[in-house]
Amino acid sequence: VSDTLHVVCSHCHNTNRVPAARLADGPKCGRCHQPLLDGNPVSLGAANFQRHLESSDLPLLVDFWASWCGPCKMMAPIYERTAAQFATTVRFAKVNTEEEQALAARYGIRSIPTLVLFKGGGEIDRIAGAVDATTLSNWVQSRI
Ligand SMILES: [Zn+2]
Repeated sequence: VSDTLHVVCSHCHNTNRVPAARLADGPKCGRCHQPLLDGNPVSLGAANFQRHLESSDLPLLVDFWASWCGPCKMMAPIYERTAAQFATTVRFAKVNTEEEQALAARYGIRSIPTLVLFKGGGEIDRIAGAVDATTLSNWVQSRI
C-alpha cells in the first residue's frame, strides 16, 4: 500500500496527491479548494469519467441510472447515505444513461439501475437492479 494516494476532485476533476493517513482529515483540492472527499455522489459524463476511472487510487462505484426509472429514484437516497459512509474509501458516482449513452453502451448496461464497481481502472463486480442499504454497504465492503 502506497502512503500517497491520487484522489480526483469531484468538483473540478483535478488529480490531487493525498497522504493516506490524511484521508480522514478533510483534505481539500489544491486547485479549487473544495473538500476532496465530501461523501456526495459525483455526476460523471464522457468528459470526466475516464479521469476518475484511471487517475484515482480510490475504487470507483458507478450508479448507471435514468430519470424515468422508479427503482433508481427509490435507491437514490440509499446511495447517498452509503456514499457518506464510504466517503474516505470509495468514490461514489452516478451516470445518467439518457445523457451518456456512449458510456452506458461501453459498459454493456442493459437494465437500470446497474451498479458497477471499478478498481485500478478495471471492473471488479456489478449488481443489476436496486438494492437496500445493507446489501449495498456489505457488497461494497466485501470487494474493496
Ligand atoms: Zn477541485
